[in-house]
Amino acid sequence: MSEQNRRMEHERLGSINHAMGLCREDAKGRLGVSGKIGCPSCGTALRYAVSVTNGCIWGKCETGGCLEWIEQGESEGCHTRCIKSTTETGSPM
Ligand SMILES: [Zn+2]
Repeated sequence: MSEQNRRMEHERLGSINHAMGLCREDAKGRLGVSGKIGCPSCGTALRYAVSVTNGCIWGKCETGGCLEWIEQGESEGCHTRCIKSTTETGSPM
């Protein structure tokens, strides 16, 4: 991976963190909900869903190639972030 790619990946993770914070605000601490926010990166709609078991958030911008992530806790109730930026399609829910 080139230095430039690494920087882009770093920025992408920063955007994802930011978007995830917005989703959390929008969900207001509720679990098992899904909704839509304005994508902080491109301004279109970004869909998200909060896991009912551990509050982890999945999110995907409607613009292809924009923000998309899966947050995975290591165990139930664990909020440790393991952010996987991915280009896979589909929802794990
Ligand atoms: Zn976007």
